[in-house]
Amino acid sequence: MNQAHYDVIVIGAGFSGLTAARELGEVGKRVLVLEARDRIGGSTWYRTDLLGGIGLEMGGTWIVPQQTHVWSEVERYGVPIQDSVLPDRMTWSAGGKVLDTLLPCTPAEYGELEHAVRQLLAAGERLDCTRPLSEQDLADLDVPIEQWADDVGMKGNARELLISWFCGCANAHESIGSALDIIRWCASMDNSLWGMVQASVLGYTFTDGTRSLADAIRADLTDLAGELRLSSPVRRVVQDPAGVMVTYDGGTATAERVLVTVPIGVLKDIDWEPALPADKLAASHENHAGQGQKVWALARNVPDDISGYGWGTSFDYVGAMHESPEGTVLVCFAPEHDRVDASDLSDVQRAVREYCPDAVVVDAATHDWVHDEFSYGTWATFRAGQFAKYERALARPEGRIHFTGSHTASRWRAFIDGAIESGKRGASEILDAASVHEEEGAA
Ligand SMILES: Cc1cc2nc3c(=O)[nH]c(=O)nc-3n(C[C@H](O)[C@H](O)[C@H](O)COP(=O)(O)OP(=O)(O)OC[C@H]3O[C@@H](n4cnc5c(N)ncnc54)[C@H](O)[C@@H]3O)c2cc1C
Repeated sequence: MNQAHYDVIVIGAGFSGLTAARELGEVGKRVLVLEARDRIGGSTWYRTDLLGGIGLEMGGTWIVPQQTHVWSEVERYGVPIQDSVLPDRMTWSAGGKVLDTLLPCTPAEYGELEHAVRQLLAAGERLDCTRPLSEQDLADLDVPIEQWADDVGMKGNARELLISWFCGCANAHESIGSALDIIRWCASMDNSLWGMVQASVLGYTFTDGTRSLADAIRADLTDLAGELRLSSPVRRVVQDPAGVMVTYDGGTATAERVLVTVPIGVLKDIDWEPALPADKLAASHENHAGQGQKVWALARNVPDDISGYGWGTSFDYVGAMHESPEGTVLVCFAPEHDRVDASDLSDVQRAVREYCPDAVVVDAATHDWVHDEFSYGTWATFRAGQFAKYERALARPEGRIHFTGSHTASRWRAFIDGAIESGKRGASEILDAASVHEEEGAA
């Protein structure tokens, strides 16, 4: 083979790939990172060219101290972060009718609300987030969100709020997303309901964008002589007993081992020889549940601290993130990618008015992650039933090829933290495998 030869080729320069490449570079491995896009960061993307230049995270945004992997990276590089400013009160929208109540229901329904909270915390108690959930007795929770709410007898506004909130966390429809994946958020925050809210939309954000952390890791990688090639989508991966050959737009390269960090839905688009095992391929064709929308809206006539949850609404969350001379910048989520037409300001305004009836939306921005060929989705929450089928399979190495990505993480799957956790796991897996290989060669 006369192509450039590396110890490891990493496919994808999101947080998983960048972390793994740095860890491998630190122990002297010769690493090449191949990234399809013309930027690093993957499912995080900080943009300053929209809505009048205010920094917007199109993808991953919030972190919390309980996410120890991302937190230690933030501390390592001294990247500035800031806590959310809490609103004076929450806003609740029932089908577009803003409730004038302190809690999401009237006192007559407080019992049902209490029941819903108890059920969530009781379910969370059952999870050991340090072990694969598919190895625990949790099949009754790995069901569609709406089914779990019904199974545990939720009723009234409490049921509607919980379903909508879970759908917001899953970025998925109530008939698709796994309740278990969202109960895991609660369990991962030491079984705290408030913690779960923080981990979703009221945690810490990167003052200079997620890019600040990605750039810091990349700078380390460059210092360690790691190579990074942008705009280099990988098309073909061929493995034989001697090594792995990777073909990408722009060339081919060979390596002792390859680390694949691409999102689940992208796996099927790469030509693998030998073919990927049936379970990995099936997971890629099914894809994960996170198929919703994150939309930024610049609006006037809205409370500057709005933080609203809704049910029977187009967006399931609308929250103020920044103030600008032109108005308030709102972050909005919907559990399906086509609920709101972000290119049509009147449609965005219609959806925002379900929370702020006088809102005037003057600008909007989004990124269509669902149809992006290098993502095919937003964040990788599982569909109901996928824990049992794919939780272990997606992270399983296939010979010289290793698999990471936030969708393979144990505690904070589908988060930036999970991407970093998985990158570290992938790097140590490769180092272990390489040392066994060397010992066998020496024997
Ligand atoms: C809208 C949205 C909101 C989110 N909100 C949060 C949040 O608030 N907090 C949080 O912690 N997380 C959030 N997430 C999730 C978080 O961003 C991801 O879990 C994490 O960034 C994934 O990192 P990764 O490295 O595993 O994958 P990715 O970042 O997806 O990286 C994979 C990389 O592989 C590249 N790639 C794909 N195909 C190829 C190919 N053929 N060849 C070469 N390269 C390829 C991609 O371009 C990409 O750069 C959000 C995500 C989205 C989309």
